[in-house]
Amino acid sequence: MNAYLNGQFLPLAEAKVSALDRGFVFGDGVYEVVPVYSKKPFRLDDHLRRLQASLDGIRLASPHATDGWRELILRLIELQDFADQSLYIQVTRGTPVAGQLPRDHAFPKGVPPTVFMFAQPLVTATPAQKAAGVCAVSALDNRWLRCNIKAISLLANILLRQQAVDAGCAETVMLRDGFLTEGAASNIFVVKDGVLLAPPPSNLMLTGITYDVVLELAATHGIPHQVRAISEAEVRTADELWMTSSTKEIMAIVRLDGAPVGAGVPGPLAQQMDGLYQTFKHQVMRA
Ligand code: PLP
Repeated sequence: MNAYLNGQFLPLAEAKVSALDRGFVFGDGVYEVVPVYSKKPFRLDDHLRRLQASLDGIRLASPHATDGWRELILRLIELQDFADQSLYIQVTRGTPVAGQLPRDHAFPKGVPPTVFMFAQPLVTATPAQKAAGVCAVSALDNRWLRCNIKAISLLANILLRQQAVDAGCAETVMLRDGFLTEGAASNIFVVKDGVLLAPPPSNLMLTGITYDVVLELAATHGIPHQVRAISEAEVRTADELWMTSSTKEIMAIVRLDGAPVGAGVPGPLAQQMDGLYQTFKHQVMRA
């Protein structure tokens, strides 16, 4: 597996940063995960736009223009000996230099950001896994109020996600002030009476690239949909519940907190949307 670190392509095991890197000491950085199919990145421009928005959100100047990012990413993809990849990009506020305090909350001056990228094999759900669906638990969304920034400091998400893992489930569905926000590592959609419902983008959730694609596909294919606040009661009485992300794609949640969602099996709209998503993905990849 090959990686990229601060201007150099190198084997992943050889990529090393200082223990004083702000990412390590403070979780002071942002990241992206780009799915790559047959060595072609999916929706790369969207991921790069969101990376820029995250960098702006933490007041860190991007070390590369869009074209520069694209060039590095395409080179890293080519260097891998596997075709379907989950490409990780991390940018931190760098490492304090001599003459600066090794640990100080204030931004260090004149320090270049640390840029680290690597790719690992992308393993998407098998037809059997899709047919089975997954279970989820719910939890109070106790994260900060800037969840639209894809920050590497994921402690709250990790603790929330572990609640699902401890229950033998795949995801934690989060609720804040009685309304659905998102999953610990995914966006959540609800289907009720044939209408696809999605919570509106805000500072309380990360707007997924997959979330955008799902809504685009719903619009293109005439699937009734609404982007609006979704109450806890609507989540608990949903006909279908989905989690979506770049690596999980569209996955039906068939049990929530031990209770069946709808009929307790992946619903017809989830199956339709997964079909549309797969077709769209292959069309884009062939283009
Ligand atoms: N929300 C959170 C908290 C996430 O971590 C992720 C992805 O990892 C998403 C939403 C989905 O984003 P995307 O579809 O761009 O992968």
